[in-house]
Amino acid sequence: MLELWDACLAMIRENVQPQAYSTWFEPIKPVDYRNNLLTIQVPSEFFYEYLETHYIKVMKATIRKVLGPEGKLEYSIMMDNDVNRPLVVKQPSVDRTNTKNPPKQIQIDFDKPQNTMPNPFVLPGIKKINIESNLNENYCMENFVVGECNRVAYEAGLAIAKNPGRTSFNPMFVFSPTGMGKTHVCQAIGLETKKFHPELTVLYVNAEQFLMQFQAACRNNSSKSSRDDFVHFYQMIDVLIIDDIQYLSGKPKTQDTLFHIFNHLQQTGKQLIFTCDKPPAELKDMEQRLISRFKWGLSAEMTLPDVETRRNILKRKAYNEGVDLSDEVVNYIAEHIKTNVREMEGFLISLIAQSSLNRKSITINLVKQMVERFVNNSNHEITISYIISTVCEEMGTSQADFFTSTRKRNVVQARQLSMYFAKKYTKASLNIIGEQCGGKDHATVIHSLKTVANLLDTDKQFRAVADTIEQNFK
Ligand code: ADP
Ligand code: MG
Repeated sequence: MLELWDACLAMIRENVQPQAYSTWFEPIKPVDYRNNLLTIQVPSEFFYEYLETHYIKVMKATIRKVLGPEGKLEYSIMMDNDVNRPLVVKQPSVDRTNTKNPPKQIQIDFDKPQNTMPNPFVLPGIKKINIESNLNENYCMENFVVGECNRVAYEAGLAIAKNPGRTSFNPMFVFSPTGMGKTHVCQAIGLETKKFHPELTVLYVNAEQFLMQFQAACRNNSSKSSRDDFVHFYQMIDVLIIDDIQYLSGKPKTQDTLFHIFNHLQQTGKQLIFTCDKPPAELKDMEQRLISRFKWGLSAEMTLPDVETRRNILKRKAYNEGVDLSDEVVNYIAEHIKTNVREMEGFLISLIAQSSLNRKSITINLVKQMVERFVNNSNHEITISYIISTVCEEMGTSQADFFTSTRKRNVVQARQLSMYFAKKYTKASLNIIGEQCGGKDHATVIHSLKTVANLLDTDKQFRAVADTIEQNFK
């Protein structure tokens, strides 16, 4: 089954745009294969609809080729309400296009009463109740450790969950550098809202996914209607969470569309939650009217947890992993790994892995050794591509843009800084550095190095950004 699906994917990949491939095909999981019938699991009904309307031809051809002329495809749709009991839809795509009367809409089998209120924005065929929230149960409020660093976001989040759309925290805008718990807290708000209000449609989406879906909708031939579908889909949501909104920098069309979705939701009393790696005012290449809306509600900053909170986080994670850590071990880790929570968590996981692989218990000596290696390792493994990905992540620039010839200011700066750090932290020649930083020549690299040196001397804010990034290479 897995092999068959891999073969299908290989063929599909050649026939659709790379972004469409990662948006619509990578999330699919094969779940069953028998009697020439391949069952694939898709995350939501919207997904299924989208595949059937846009990719039916390529899927049909692929199934025929890989499974033979008798091959059939069936979708299993993950239901929002009951993840353990996915709805199975008998939907043999292969035959569908040949039929004059396509099969009736999917039968939905719910214990819960369905929402029968007519909604002018509901797409034919998509019932609001079927939208998958994309929330990860691990990112729940119970697993979120509160400290001074995140109290505002946490408290506001609880208030929102009880009364979505009806507090003054609308929109809620959470910002912090990477790894401080933004994704966790905004997903926790979503999960908590669903507990209090199971009837509401909550949707979590990363801004990058949002962007890709929008671009896919625009690329489509009947682009007007599929763009409308996109907008209508988002307008059906009661609590919309968009993570890492900085990914929309420099994407005016997507911003414009978000603006309209925002207005509609706001006017109809729906809740919006955004996260970002910087405060609204510092967003670059973002429409002013959107920035001003981000500021309407509550902006909550999250910072690096203090050592006490880091200890509590470690204890909570260890507890969730089912391991016991001595206070000494917890203290040592909390005091030595303080770049961000994600790294601390990563360290804990590799510590647990080490101890179980080698059947050693987690002693303070093992921890000390590993901390040393952890810190040293990041010293030795600095490659140009590691530098580029770190710089892009820290500056909120997409790596896709980095390698184009765009002259957008933040991208240009990301390139220049990457060259600067590559020169400082690797032994690569200027030619190699230029080549790997988007195919630039030796002269461009020299110019970049000068520009950065100059900015570091004269621009305090730039210097602060550069210093933060540089922490990753030390
Ligand atoms: P961000 O979105 O800001 O980059 P994440 O939400 O992905 O950060 O957090 C990184 C990791 O750290 C996640 O696994 C998350 O569960 C964990 N984490 C961050 N803050 C906390 C917290 N206050 N309590 C528990 N876990 C946290
Ligand atoms: Mg995040």
